[in-house]
Amino acid sequence: MFIDGAWVEAKSNETRAIINPYNQEEIFQSAEGNREDAKAAIQAARVAFDKGEWPNTPASERGEIVQKIADYIRRDIEELAELETLDTGKTIEESRVDMSDIAGVFQYFAGLADKDGGEVISSPIPDSESKVVHEPVGVCGQITPWNYPLLQAAWKIAPALAAGNTIVVKPSEITPLTTVKVFELIEEAGTPKGVANLVLGKGADVGAELSENTDVDLISFTGGIGTGKKIMQAASVNVKKIALELGGKNPNIVFADADFETAVDQALNAAFFHAGQVCSAGARLLVEDSIHDEFVEELVKRAENIKLGNGFDDDTQSGPLISAEHRAKVEEYIEIGQQEGAKIEVGGKRPGKAELQDGFFYLPTVFTNCTSDMRIVQEEVFGPVLTVEKFSSQEEAVEKANDTIYGLAGAVFTTDIGKAEEVAGSLRLGTVWINDFHPYFAQAPWGGFKQSGIGRELGKPGLEEYTEVKHIFRNRKPEPIHWFK
Ligand code: NAD
Repeated sequence: MFIDGAWVEAKSNETRAIINPYNQEEIFQSAEGNREDAKAAIQAARVAFDKGEWPNTPASERGEIVQKIADYIRRDIEELAELETLDTGKTIEESRVDMSDIAGVFQYFAGLADKDGGEVISSPIPDSESKVVHEPVGVCGQITPWNYPLLQAAWKIAPALAAGNTIVVKPSEITPLTTVKVFELIEEAGTPKGVANLVLGKGADVGAELSENTDVDLISFTGGIGTGKKIMQAASVNVKKIALELGGKNPNIVFADADFETAVDQALNAAFFHAGQVCSAGARLLVEDSIHDEFVEELVKRAENIKLGNGFDDDTQSGPLISAEHRAKVEEYIEIGQQEGAKIEVGGKRPGKAELQDGFFYLPTVFTNCTSDMRIVQEEVFGPVLTVEKFSSQEEAVEKANDTIYGLAGAVFTTDIGKAEEVAGSLRLGTVWINDFHPYFAQAPWGGFKQSGIGRELGKPGLEEYTEVKHIFRNRKPEPIHWFK
């Protein structure tokens, strides 16, 4: 762990074995911190914010340090990509794309650091002037999940540092490797002591301490909805600012007039990329009834051919699920779906191949005969499981798409651009893709409507999340007003 500018073991000396989900081999022993380590890190971040130079360092200088982190990530991109694949099982090609995006995120926020000079506003009071400035929030706790370990951390670390905050980062306890490595780069870039701290350990200990501790001013969390609710409750103790990026059950609407080949290809990508362990996975396919059967037939044929394997092999298209526990959760949902009357068209079981038996693999699965009231349609499975529903009108498609507690992302496929725009306008989602699925980038904000979260990451709102807004009013002609005679 990295606390107050030094690499340290857990105070308890406890460690955790980190395993490769492809073959269950131990790849790393990480420190297993607890509340005491978290408290030490929070204290270091508090002192660095209250007494240190960082919040008042010229924004351009902070930007230079954040840019150096981007440069070092590019320099070490292959090592970082390999660590991510070892830790998560995702394909090396995907990890390389992630690392390149991550460098881009640091670069984007480095560039944004000194672009906000405040704003002079028009005051209605004579002989006065008013300006609005943004200042850092303070000590930020940042808690991340296992599916995109470094990407999710980058979305938080880069803007927080650029805006002048001090941070305590807690990655998922099962995938800490790349975050540890990036802290080496944060140190190398010359980030002052105490500004950036890393504590490893369980959510119930380290994460709960970050959420409850009154010396933390803001908590930013990406993960499951249940954990998000707990964090929100804990954060109320000192009315912390909260940023929550929770799950999704993302609709993918395909109209009959869509380009068939593109829509099938993207539906596959939407649902089965990274074994469906993506918060924005297109896990809920809505197909216009006139093309339903043909579409499903083609989708099933292609889902059957997805090659599962070792993320380091060139021909692997998808890796394993992250853990035995997670696969058990996916299997439970397969049971539930069947009991609810949905029909398995493909998958619905573990692969039979001998070479896949040591990993937590699960076959890409497509359910048809689905209806909106089913749990398999409403709840986030976070695995390679796609539900298919039919619709017969634009109105029905929108109604079904919006019929969940979530509102993260979704897509519409049609060659009628007017219709696409209308549907995009009606969807209660933080991101809508038209004739595409999954693109995201540092310049565009990311986050959810409804119970998919609070706040936005990336883009300008991603930086604003880490700032307080201050109004400064100056009376140019001070004189008594004699309100109280
Ligand atoms: P999770 O909620 O189990 O864990 C996420 C993090 O929270 C981990 O670091 C964990 O240790 C910590 N944590 C657990 N209990 C805690 C507690 N009581 N207090 C504080 N911290 C605690 O989620 P996960 O299983 O790691 O990730 C999967 C979930 O993340 C999915 O629901 C997915 O949709 C969501 N996700 C959302 C986005 C997004 O941008 N909206 C992105 C990626 C993942």
